[in-house]
Amino acid sequence: MAKTIFIENNVFEHFRTKKILNIIKARNIIRINHYGEIFNRNKQNFRIQKDSLNYIIAAKKNNLVIPIPPSTTSVKGFYFSHMYNCIYDCDYCFLQGHFNSAYHVYFINYEDFGKAISNESMKTKTKIWFFSGYDCDSLASEKITGFAEYFVPFFSKLQNCMLEIRTKSSRTTELLKIKPNSNVVCAFSLNPQNLIDLFEKGTPNLSSRIQSIKLLSENGWKIGLRFDPLILTEASKEDYLELFELAVNCIPKSNIHSVSLGSLRLSESHHKKMVKNDMQNRLLLDNRYSYKEKLWQPDHKIRDVETQLSEHLKKLIPQSSIFLSE
Ligand code: SF4
Repeated sequence: MAKTIFIENNVFEHFRTKKILNIIKARNIIRINHYGEIFNRNKQNFRIQKDSLNYIIAAKKNNLVIPIPPSTTSVKGFYFSHMYNCIYDCDYCFLQGHFNSAYHVYFINYEDFGKAISNESMKTKTKIWFFSGYDCDSLASEKITGFAEYFVPFFSKLQNCMLEIRTKSSRTTELLKIKPNSNVVCAFSLNPQNLIDLFEKGTPNLSSRIQSIKLLSENGWKIGLRFDPLILTEASKEDYLELFELAVNCIPKSNIHSVSLGSLRLSESHHKKMVKNDMQNRLLLDNRYSYKEKLWQPDHKIRDVETQLSEHLKKLIPQSSIFLSE
């Protein structure tokens, strides 16, 4: 049972608040004016909060959709966050350095997000991407949030917009009740099992993620494969080659929408804060990474192996489907 659920006054009676309260039981319910009063307080300890979670239910008022800097992607797109933080606890997760608090924040004003997305879609005729898994795992908390239940049908009505649901979850119960559509890609983050064991605490194992990929694909969902972040200090090139073969061949190629690879990298400020919060995190202290251009990033030897991996991937899947994260 959670200790406390903080609820903004303006959503106290909202039907999604009531739904969440039916699922998450708490000893205390406290009304607040704005989620930032609790979430943005200084001197909170992310690691301690992660082990003793509280929750916040709120409405997001500003920056409902945020443009992705053009330098970080080859597609025009926006982030949007219906949730802050995550039920999992990956050692490399930048949220530890991004937020003051580990409490889960649920933003339940989906209709306002919808208006902001529609506004952006009307400004252009070209295709725009919306990425939902920036500040959370998009699918892991679906039972509580009903995020996909609302937004998958919503995106089916927008001709020039695509939604990426990024996840490490193997949860399919809710998605299988929703009609898939060609504007939505369910993108699975994958790593070799030895890395999942070491650095992705609480996440489903590789075989259950693969099972979910197969099941969703059989049911008409477009699938994205995200090998991101590559952690080549602890896994070998062969571990990744094996993973590529497994993932790329587990469903018909025609059902794979896209594949991407990304380095393990963090902004310098996030990395510094994460190390301060968790001095036991050996991944973040690896000396094959260093600060360069305000990023904590791998040395050239690791980058060389990453390049070799991307070359190998091109032999397995059409190059047009492969994206490299900067
Ligand atoms: S699944 Fe994603 S959001 Fe969740 S802890 Fe891991 S890296 Fe962070």
